[in-house]
Amino acid sequence: MKLDVNVLRYLSKDDFRVLTAVEMGMRNHEIVPCELIDRIARLKHGGTYKVLKNLLKHKLVHHDSSKYDGFRLTYLGYDFLAIKTLVNRGIFSGVGRQLGVGKESDIFEVVKEDGTVLAMKLHRLGRVSFRAVKSKRDYLRHRSNYNWLYLSRLAALKEFAFMKALEEHGFSVPQAVDCNRHCVIMSLVPGYPLVQVKELQNPDVVFETIIGAVIRLAEHGLIHCDFNEFNIMIDDDEKVTMIDFPQMVSVSHPNAQMYFDRDVECIYKFFAKRFNMSFEENENNSDGSEVEIDEIGRPQFSEINKNSGFLDKELAASGFTRKDQAELEKAWGFLILLCHAAPQHYFFQPESLGLGHLSLKELTEGDLEKHSDSDDEGTGDDEDEEDEADINN
Ligand code: ADP
Ligand code: MG
Repeated sequence: MKLDVNVLRYLSKDDFRVLTAVEMGMRNHEIVPCELIDRIARLKHGGTYKVLKNLLKHKLVHHDSSKYDGFRLTYLGYDFLAIKTLVNRGIFSGVGRQLGVGKESDIFEVVKEDGTVLAMKLHRLGRVSFRAVKSKRDYLRHRSNYNWLYLSRLAALKEFAFMKALEEHGFSVPQAVDCNRHCVIMSLVPGYPLVQVKELQNPDVVFETIIGAVIRLAEHGLIHCDFNEFNIMIDDDEKVTMIDFPQMVSVSHPNAQMYFDRDVECIYKFFAKRFNMSFEENENNSDGSEVEIDEIGRPQFSEINKNSGFLDKELAASGFTRKDQAELEKAWGFLILLCHAAPQHYFFQPESLGLGHLSLKELTEGDLEKHSDSDDEGTGDDEDEEDEADINN
């Protein structure tokens, strides 16, 4: 997605006031009625309508008149709200080049006043799915009203909380700097994703470090769930940094064993193929650790001492709640279903999503319906009044 931050410069206070009003209205409306936006924004002389036109021109809001005249935020509009908040907080002052396009995120460089460069991850849950939804109207009729902005905010909150906790426990992860809405600011990791690395001086050492990290994570009560060559960064000194945490689960998750084995398997496969490593004769743990291994050396989930760390429980108390986790898991299940509904719109396979908290067998079309139905609550007038009260706070 193009992020033309120059537009930010031309947006006035009133523009942001109306954009914020749309955001507030979206708490209980998928499409926010124009009158409600006007009531929340309280601009004089019908100013809201003029501003909405300007926001629409810059694609910060989307107009929908299918049921009534209203607007919703676009991801770009949400980006601008997050960026403005973080700039106001003094976290950074400029946005630079795009660093990466993830499955459901965009990563940019951002610069602080003093020239320090950081990384900004904008979560975009459902981005790929929007396309699929459009092309499969019949299949997905009335089922696409997931609140993706809200879910992206949850994903960002989770990623930030996990990154911070992992860093505090000595894991090699980016430093978590700040988080607002669907946006996480972290330190810039030098180097490249492992998938781009063709040669290593010490593939054995790098391999042991990576597998060691998976084991240590589990000992701390966590499983990455998308631990592969795309989410491991390597710098020129072959230092390993892991990234991308919104899909992590606790070792007490019902599918924990499967996720752990899959993370381990991904690493074994990649190193065997890319660096011609052979695991057949691996009889001992070369790193001297005490974790049980199978006949070709893979660590066994059942043998890991999961009582030594309580990071999963600590995190449950970090502001990212169990309910948030459940909602995110449902959304990821929904994404997987969409992949199957319109696979031609995905440049990845559902299996490689790493988002499989709910296995496909567990999900049915009925679930899909149920999830989206539950978003329709709360359109009462009382809530509108609450929105109006809030904007001046
Ligand atoms: P997704 O969840 O969409 O896969 P990732 O967090 O894996 O997003 O990021 C996508 C890509 O962006 C990564 O593969 C990497 O190239 C780049 N990237 C992400 N975080 C950083 C960072 N902190 N520093 C440098 N590059 C990063
Ligand atoms: Mg990734």
